[in-house]
Amino acid sequence: MDYDLGEGAAMLRLRLRELMGAHLPDGFLGAFTDDPRDLETTQAFCKLLADEGLLALAWPKSHGGGGGSVWEQTVLREEMWAHHEPRGPQYMGINWVGPAIMRYGTQAQKDQHLSAIAAGDVVWCQGFSEPEAGSDLASMRTRATRDGDGWLINGQKIWTSYALMADWCVLATRTDSPDCGPRGKHTLFLVPMERAGITARPVKSMLGPHHLNEVFFDNVRAGDDEILGEVGGGWQVIRDALNFERVGIARYARCESLLKRLRAEMGSEWGTLPESIRTRWARALVDLRVARLLAYRAVAQRDDARAAPAASAARIATTLCDQKVAELLFDALGASALDSGADAALGGAVDDHWRYAQAATVASGTIDVQRMLVARDVLGGP
Ligand SMILES: Cc1cc2nc3c(=O)[nH]c(=O)nc-3n(C[C@H](O)[C@H](O)[C@H](O)COP(=O)(O)OP(=O)(O)OC[C@H]3O[C@@H](n4cnc5c(N)ncnc54)[C@H](O)[C@@H]3O)c2cc1C
Repeated sequence: MDYDLGEGAAMLRLRLRELMGAHLPDGFLGAFTDDPRDLETTQAFCKLLADEGLLALAWPKSHGGGGGSVWEQTVLREEMWAHHEPRGPQYMGINWVGPAIMRYGTQAQKDQHLSAIAAGDVVWCQGFSEPEAGSDLASMRTRATRDGDGWLINGQKIWTSYALMADWCVLATRTDSPDCGPRGKHTLFLVPMERAGITARPVKSMLGPHHLNEVFFDNVRAGDDEILGEVGGGWQVIRDALNFERVGIARYARCESLLKRLRAEMGSEWGTLPESIRTRWARALVDLRVARLLAYRAVAQRDDARAAPAASAARIATTLCDQKVAELLFDALGASALDSGADAALGGAVDDHWRYAQAATVASGTIDVQRMLVARDVLGGP
């Protein structure tokens, strides 16, 4: 496989950097800060990307996308993550909600949802994890039961990113009979967050606002037309969704940009750093290139049977880099790594990076679970 993404990719990177340079405020550190203007910036920036045909770059034009290749989408994703993800919560809709609807949705669902996502008009959240079902997602308890010609949903989700700002939720439920044991049949619903019976509450964490929430479903009504895929066929949709999601978070690009900024900002002081730190810097850069290539492999294999282990391998590599780079930045900069504001080292990005890096090996499935998926693929097994 040729990993050089070519001249077109270089031009696209340039165009995206120009757009970000012109439309993001100096010192922008992402959507999820204590300053609500950052969220507004991301919303406006998504509209701009959509107007330029860039938000859903690799989606078919018939769904409001740009008709580009998955490699162009990869470039876009890298540039966004390298510059503090100015798509904010929208990356979720583009990365996996839209593709899952394209693959499993009815024509009516495609018509209703895809162009709204591509236009940056709606925010989605993922209602999968529950208090007793994270890694062991299959044992979720939120239940959808038949009620007349529709469904009644009861249960609780947790760690639901963006739930308080989301317009829609991809909600995973059980639709088997209650006595069929821990692993039954799962069904996904596409429900509006404003539907009666849904309550979202924030969970405070070191990640800052909007990231984590709990969501309660109390006799929530849903129709057959809101089911994504088949009744009882939700597991396949969840697996695909998680694969799309795992490849979609290009944190390796963020890490690489932070390492390069560190080297550039330190200037002549670089030589005064202990050799052990400079060696770790070089090793981290190599590890990041490996993570990038693993992500490219996962993109190339996204439609075949090896998609899941490829996505897990890429995710493991990226999250480990996240943590190594976070530690390295602190060791290189000392206490000044905690400074914030425009004059701070790396524009105050180290603290933000370190906090997310702590959660990275848990979000989208823990690193232990990802390792098991890879091991099963390599060694065989259930
Ligand atoms: C920042 C962030 C954002 C998130 N956003 C969302 C979201 O939007 N929507 C959503 O649905 N979920 C979300 N999650 C939840 C995430 O998917 C779960 O936290 C994750 O799957 C782990 O589940 P858990 O927290 O229940 O931990 P557990 O599954 O209880 O795991 C606890 C520990 O046990 C280990 N472990 C568990 N089972 C095994 C095993 N079989 N073998 C070896 N070790 C094992 C785990 O690796 C972990 O170290 C988010 C999490 C984070 C941190």
